[in-house]
Amino acid sequence: MSLPFVVLKFGGSSLATVDRIRNVAGRVKNDYLDRGLKVAVVVSAMGKTTDGLIDLAQRTSNVLNGRELDQLLVTGEQQSAALLAMAIEELGFRAKSFNGAQAGISATGYHMEGRIADVNPERVLSWLEGEGEVAVVTGFQGINEAGDFVTLGRGGSDLSAVALAVALKSSFCHIYTDVDGVYTADPKIVSTARKLTNVSYEECIEMAALGAKVLQARSVEFASLYDMLIYVSSSILEGEGTWVKEKTIKEGLAIKAVVHDKNIAKIAVLGVPDVPGIAAGLFSKLADRGVGVEMIIQSVMRGDVNDIAFLVKETLLGEAIEVCGDYAREIDAQGVTYDAEVGRVSIVGVGLSLHPEIPAEMFSVLSGEGINIDMISSTSNSITCVISSSMIDRAVSALHRHFLEGEK
Ligand code: ADP
Ligand code: ASP
Ligand code: MG
Repeated sequence: MSLPFVVLKFGGSSLATVDRIRNVAGRVKNDYLDRGLKVAVVVSAMGKTTDGLIDLAQRTSNVLNGRELDQLLVTGEQQSAALLAMAIEELGFRAKSFNGAQAGISATGYHMEGRIADVNPERVLSWLEGEGEVAVVTGFQGINEAGDFVTLGRGGSDLSAVALAVALKSSFCHIYTDVDGVYTADPKIVSTARKLTNVSYEECIEMAALGAKVLQARSVEFASLYDMLIYVSSSILEGEGTWVKEKTIKEGLAIKAVVHDKNIAKIAVLGVPDVPGIAAGLFSKLADRGVGVEMIIQSVMRGDVNDIAFLVKETLLGEAIEVCGDYAREIDAQGVTYDAEVGRVSIVGVGLSLHPEIPAEMFSVLSGEGINIDMISSTSNSITCVISSSMIDRAVSALHRHFLEGEK
């Protein structure tokens, strides 16, 4: 009987140069192949290739054509997959690359924000069950019913890896990246951030959804749905990483992490008539254009109007302004304002709502730093403040000192 296959994933920073691709090949060999295990390796595009391709498209045309953009973006992962297969072959192991279609990854939904519909990795399986030792699979891409490539949202190679791990019944999904685990804050901003040994799915989904980009939020949701363990570790350093799984070891603090997101923008439709169906109309139009929204806040009534404010990804601000502008004219609202120079900072921890003192402490820390809060929202597992993007690093560091370094 053959051993189960393990699914690994390497992100763009780990594959940014030819030397790094060769390092990844060595890592796959040392960690798995030398131990007699066969692996499927999911890869992202090299370094900032995806950003470069988006820039190329924007410089070619002002019209955002999602289908064509996706056909372009998938080439990034196809380059790194073929190159890694070559680097592994050079080490004397049998490797073959597969793109999303060849690996049987079906996707549905909007271009650039596709969702995985199904994974039928027959070719990958027959390769690994036969002479193959490594299948290198492109992340971030699937094929839709029309036979076109669809990408799975930024950071989507994490999702490809988890979905492939579920389909191949891997006992866990090993995500290698440029940091050696999930930390209490982005270690590139907070030098005193601590590596977490374990994070629960619940905490990790909240962290990822609020901007901790070490894992794509949807990949953790998918893992939680199928009970797939995720192990995050460094592609360069040796040593223990972080397990993302159901149970977490309590570390005695209510707050698990401080996370931030600078890539958001705020938009508000002002003076909206206070009658039924107005919000439904606005958000249907945004949804029709594939503009996801978060943190919707409707102000209390002023006379017979109110304001509706929300956040969108910065990359979708142009679309959102267009939709809101048209709608504001249609319903005779007073106008639309927006601000791209905002970011959000959040504290995350399961059961935060059990600690009534925490919101006041968070707001005091921010005001102590002279930071003005623009919008506030909370869930049972997080509290988020929208602030000026220039203040984000300062806010993250101050909140980390207060809540995670015991500076109370
Ligand atoms: P990859 O190219 O491997 O997909 P990403 O750049 O998507 O890597 O994610 C890794 C980055 O996530 C790290 O370099 C780090 O700066 C950032 N990050 C943000 N928040 C956290 C956190 N809480 N823990 C670890 N890394 C974080
Ligand atoms: N290359 C894609 C991106 O930059 C997917 C990924 O890296 O996970 O978003
Ligand atoms: Mg990533």
